Amino acid sequence: MLDDSPPTINCNTHGDTCIAAVVCGHMIDSKVVPVGFVENSDDPNDLQAWCEDCEEMFLREDDKTEAFREFNRMAIVCVSCYQELKSRHSRIFNT
Ligand SMILES: [Zn+2]
Ligand SMILES: [Zn+2]
Repeated sequence: MLDDSPPTINCNTHGDTCIAAVVCGHMIDSKVVPVGFVENSDDPNDLQAWCEDCEEMFLREDDKTEAFREFNRMAIVCVSCYQELKSRHSRIFNT
């Protein structure tokens, strides 16, 4: 690691020095219907999550393949947006 300061992004909602986090495009697209929230990294400086469909695809592909990346449509959001997406998409009653 050359630089251990977390990457920051400019978020329209939360300001211009927000710590960046990674989610899949499906969470961004789905404003109302929860798509699931599978967290891959809970390091506060490197948050990463994707939806249940992405998790299924990832398990099937067994790696972050080209097809997976295309499906995932990784999106960079700020950590505050990440937390909002988390509360929107988490399935609390999922067993
Ligand atoms: Zn997804
Ligand atoms: Zn934000």
